[in-house]
Amino acid sequence: MKIISEKCKKCLVCIDACPVKAISKKGEEVTINGDICLECGCCASSCPNNAIEYE
Ligand code: SF4
Ligand code: SF4
Repeated sequence: MKIISEKCKKCLVCIDACPVKAISKKGEEVTINGDICLECGCCASSCPNNAIEYE
């Protein structure tokens, strides 16, 4: 999964939506740790700005 930074409003809804806590805020960027991401799509479904996509 990847976060389209231009679309991301930093609302952090996706952080709570991720069952394995793969998403975190680093500085001003919200990022996904691909090493633990399950590609479940929960974050993409939760994002109100459609900022998360499958790679
Ligand atoms: S839910 Fe979407 S807009 Fe909100 S922080 Fe996550 S990626 Fe960004
Ligand atoms: S696809 Fe699932 S496991 Fe990966 S970051 Fe999104 S919610 Fe977390």
